[in-house]
Amino acid sequence: MIVTADLVRFVELFGARLHAAREELTALDSAIGDADHGINMDRGFTAVAAILPDLGEADAGTVFRQVGMKLISTVGGASGPLYGTFFLRLGTSLGDAHEVSPEALAAAFRAGLEGVMTRGKAELGDKTMIDAMSPAVEALEMGATGNLPAALDAAVAAAAAGRDRITPLVARKGRASYLGERSANHQDPGATSTTLLFESLRDALRDAKSGAVAEERQ
Ligand code: ADP
Ligand code: MG
Repeated sequence: MIVTADLVRFVELFGARLHAAREELTALDSAIGDADHGINMDRGFTAVAAILPDLGEADAGTVFRQVGMKLISTVGGASGPLYGTFFLRLGTSLGDAHEVSPEALAAAFRAGLEGVMTRGKAELGDKTMIDAMSPAVEALEMGATGNLPAALDAAVAAAAAGRDRITPLVARKGRASYLGERSANHQDPGATSTTLLFESLRDALRDAKSGAVAEERQ
């Protein structure tokens, strides 16, 4: 079983990865956007990191809703409302649960993806974070009834493959779409940060099972 502390750890790891990738994400955004994606994400997750210590005892829904609201209030640009909506939907889906099954987690991620698609009106192939998120959520769903670490590995591989698949494409949504044909052959910053999100989930939950065993022993 996945516990709230594992979910807090996921958010923490995502923040740390975004901080480490800040320059890379901003460089990607300078080619097909306005050179702020790394700055935006790092600002948001620095604010999130400040509230995480207070959320250790909270239910899963509260953790993710607080993260979502913090992102919406601190991150400008497209990515703030989109990632904010993603985390808000995770929170709504998980509700007052303190323990989360892999199936419930996959369902929450599906709800998060749907929230981002509704909010941003992007479809698969528009060259956005959706192209990494959608296949990763699918992999998570397919693996949720089996071995969780394998499902998490598959989700990371699917996100990275989605990120790379759209590099040759012309963007049809967001700032990159203003460039038209010139947006082709550049890696999408949002799909890159979404791949980091799934890497963080994988690393945070890798030990979730042993965590549950340790709890049973108490
Ligand atoms: P902005 O484009 O406002 O400067 P960011 O640079 O932080 O915001 O984020 C850019 C990323 O947001 C893009 O690389 C893309 O993946 C994602 N994005 C932009 N518009 C949309 C949309 N409508 N739906 C989904 N993702 C989007
Ligand atoms: Mg930008």
